[in-house]
Amino acid sequence: MERHFGCTACGKCCTGWLPLSIPDALAHAARFPLFLLWTPVRPGGKSYDLTARLGFVLHLKNRKRAAVRLTPFSYVPPGMACPALGDDGLCAVHADKPQRCRAMPFSGARAEAEQSDLLLPKPGWACDISAAAPAVYRDHQILLREDFAAERAQLESDALVLRPFAERLLDALPSLRGDLEKMALKPQGGHIITNFSTLVSRLPHVDIFALAAQQAPVMESFAERTQNNPQQADEHARYVACAKDWQRMLDGV
Ligand code: SF4
Ligand code: SF4
Repeated sequence: MERHFGCTACGKCCTGWLPLSIPDALAHAARFPLFLLWTPVRPGGKSYDLTARLGFVLHLKNRKRAAVRLTPFSYVPPGMACPALGDDGLCAVHADKPQRCRAMPFSGARAEAEQSDLLLPKPGWACDISAAAPAVYRDHQILLREDFAAERAQLESDALVLRPFAERLLDALPSLRGDLEKMALKPQGGHIITNFSTLVSRLPHVDIFALAAQQAPVMESFAERTQNNPQQADEHARYVACAKDWQRMLDGV
């Protein structure tokens, strides 16, 4: 079966959480509020084998296990516009946009045979899925695959850093391991969010002070934008705490 897809640049999908590669997170640190997203996938869940390969396997009680995807991401509240979306509804960093955005509508974090649902626009999105749009997916294979392949290759490369980082962090923080195990056992699944700053010591050639100087004002700005909305209370609390953390680093405390 053949599927068609064309982006009309309506900008409607440019809201909320945006997974990022490590290079994209660092390149856009002056723009995106950076955090780490831990997502357990149970055996039989979507792209389990790929998640285990790109992430790591968590051993649970009673010989159960889960694969965990760990990814840097821009933690923007659901429905709030991406900070790179211009007032004209177009991406202001189009020439330099993250690999995740280039690979749309496909995802390098998903198995190639499990991409069909990503080709269905959400309500309000103006994606062209008519026969006039380019054929992009046939018999569970991606036809225009350059950006998908580039995103997958970057995820493979990031995994070499993220996997040992995750293993060490979970060994050092039993409470985080416990929370992740609980999340992995929940039938409805879920996510755990932690600070991006913990990853920085594992990244070669990253100037922590330069990064703190970029992230502190981003966190302060998002803290301000979310302060009066009770539905954004969780995000607000994280922005406030992270703004303080990054500022402490800048102050050398
Ligand atoms: S970086 Fe650009 S393309 Fe990507 S979500 Fe933001 S506005 Fe959209
Ligand atoms: S919602 Fe569809 S048409 Fe609009 S920017 Fe996103 S991919 Fe393009």
